[in-house]
Amino acid sequence: MKKVLLKIDGMTCSACSNGLEKYLNKQEGIKQASVNLVMNNASIEYDEKILDIPQIEKFVEKAGFESLGIDRLEKEKKKASNEKYKLIALTILAILILYISMGQMVGLPIFDILNMHHNPIYFAVVQFVLSMIAIILGRDILKNGYKNLVHKTPNMDTLVGLGVISSLLYSLYNTYLIFAGDTEAVHHLYYESIVIILFFIKIGKYVEGRNKDKTKEAIQDLMMITPNLATIEKDGKQKQVTLDEIQKGDIVICKPGEKIAVDGEILDGTTHIDESFITGESVPVKKTVNDKVIAGSINYDGVIKYKAEKIGKESTVSEIVRMVVEATNTKAPIAKIADTISGYFVPAIIIIAVLASIVWAILGKDIGFIINIFITVLVVACPCSLGLATPLAIVMASGLASRNGILVKSSESLENAHKIKTIVFDKTGTLTKGHLSISKIFNYSDLKEEDIIEAVANIENHSEHPIAQGIVKYAEEKHIQMDSKEVTDFKNISGYGIEANYDKANYLIGNKKLMLENNIDINKTIKENQMNDDETLENDGNSILFVAKEHMLIALIGVKDIIKENAKEVVDKLKKQNIQTVMLTGDNEKTAKAIGKSIGIETVIAGVVPKQKAEEITKLKENGLVMMCGDGINDSISLVKADIGVSVGSGTDIAMDSSDVVLMKDNLDKINDLIKISKKTMRIIKQNLFWAFFYNICMIPIAAGILIPLGITMNPMFAAFSMTISSVTVTLNSLRLKNI
Ligand code: AMP
Repeated sequence: MKKVLLKIDGMTCSACSNGLEKYLNKQEGIKQASVNLVMNNASIEYDEKILDIPQIEKFVEKAGFESLGIDRLEKEKKKASNEKYKLIALTILAILILYISMGQMVGLPIFDILNMHHNPIYFAVVQFVLSMIAIILGRDILKNGYKNLVHKTPNMDTLVGLGVISSLLYSLYNTYLIFAGDTEAVHHLYYESIVIILFFIKIGKYVEGRNKDKTKEAIQDLMMITPNLATIEKDGKQKQVTLDEIQKGDIVICKPGEKIAVDGEILDGTTHIDESFITGESVPVKKTVNDKVIAGSINYDGVIKYKAEKIGKESTVSEIVRMVVEATNTKAPIAKIADTISGYFVPAIIIIAVLASIVWAILGKDIGFIINIFITVLVVACPCSLGLATPLAIVMASGLASRNGILVKSSESLENAHKIKTIVFDKTGTLTKGHLSISKIFNYSDLKEEDIIEAVANIENHSEHPIAQGIVKYAEEKHIQMDSKEVTDFKNISGYGIEANYDKANYLIGNKKLMLENNIDINKTIKENQMNDDETLENDGNSILFVAKEHMLIALIGVKDIIKENAKEVVDKLKKQNIQTVMLTGDNEKTAKAIGKSIGIETVIAGVVPKQKAEEITKLKENGLVMMCGDGINDSISLVKADIGVSVGSGTDIAMDSSDVVLMKDNLDKINDLIKISKKTMRIIKQNLFWAFFYNICMIPIAAGILIPLGITMNPMFAAFSMTISSVTVTLNSLRLKNI
């Protein structure tokens, strides 16, 4: 049996992927095929004696799709550049057709062959050809519009499709008239509006689609989280192997700083393991014989041997990948305002066109006249600037957001952030710093606090313990000098702490037991009123370090994962806007509740694994739109599941790839800025949509023939003029999105 991962082209929905999967599984020689819609690939296990890869690719073709060869999980660029070329082509077409159709009206020079009065036939045919090319380039828009019409959910694309088809029919009819000798019909050609509207809509789609493939990258990153190689022990010998060579029951060796390769159980050794990516627990946990380890977690300070238990698809990481994919497939799109409006506008226009036709029929007009009225209404109703109304505002707003440290990856999030009802925060790394840090120091000496930290941090720099790493990080953040003085005789006293000489003085740093073992009389330094200092630190959730210099206790240092400075202020601001705040964490309830209380978060849900986190999001979505704010791998499913996923810039790549918005400066207050920008953007988009539709709506009664009794019929110049004015208005209005 062999396995291959093929990249598949042509799948658009779950019906495609399910169909292909069923088809492949029916073929002789294929043991098992699973098709992934999000990743656009198929993982196929096959009997190499019966089949080879080209034969499998033929099956894919027969099922109606295309195999693009072996999927090496590289990040895709191809599709984006295809869209870019289409847009460039449409831009050229738009310029050409505008020049040909409008240029001569304003007196621009033109080849005589295209002169509307001298050569009306060429004039019409060339425009027809240009508009047909535009229709081919924009056929996906028309297809989508048709699909939505059939499903009775007409959207922006349906409106565009309707406009394009009616403009084409109307122009074809008038082209026929030109051929028949009616040269006046040159004034009734609308080929240019076909090209212009497709051009505007394509720009819009291109702008909005730029960062769409986010989840794909998240899944690719997740797959990379396990190391490529591992050391296994066989027959007393150590051997480096790749992950797929590891079998259940193999003994794997993991050294400090390495990642756990597969899920398993420790057989020998003790260490601290950072499992925060699954559990959200900020502090690496101590693990020893019989404890379970998870693939992808990081081994801190000890050598361990563990037995491989869950490999491949069964592993915890694979399960997260599967759930991220599921969340993507089930994520219901949030309605975009332009689509919502089109949903009403399309039926309304059709009704008006039908009504006008009926009225003229009753008034006894002939069928030619009636068809003319019907199509003219549809033609003038189609707002060309509709395609620009939203994207232009979104581009301006994205620029504004990024100048404010907010990277907006999905434009829907800008349209919807102001409608959020609930904001869910992950605890570790989002509300807290995500690593241990010094929260408080009780100084019992006449040394300066910085000097104590400098000594402790320089010594801890030689230790791999999680506490040590937290202290070093704190010192770095505070720009405390490192490595200026020598650390000698460093000793790790396992289970107690450390001992070393720094600047020629002896230091002992560790727990109370370490002090007692070394006969350090704590009471000699601590005064009566300071007796409860250690309890104070402990009640506040700290690990306590006793620091002794030359066998005299000089300080107590409280170490914990500390809350980010402005977390409370951010939550307060959100609550003032009637947004419900929730904390969702894999950490234990006691710590979570304490932090929730100090920040002012109303609802705290603790002890949840990634899957449960996502389920909680689903429940919260019943009350309205949910924003999830997280940073870790354990948040990735929830970030995809939430209506808007927000990750903080200091977070993992996977979280950033799963989210719609990235806060680049690790500052939670940016959420409030995002909401403000969203509010302003929505205001501008609504105004833009008003202006996009306004002139066209004004034209509809004229198109329907209301002014015919006064001798005024629809003049294509009016329609062209309204198109230009609305585009200019929309553009100028969008430029107002310069400041929050
Ligand atoms: P362990 O069992 O390795 O987690 O260590 C037990 C206790 O020893 C810790 O909770 C600390 O109080 C102390 N300890 C161990 N290593 C260090 C260190 N590098 N710095 C300070 N305290 C330490």
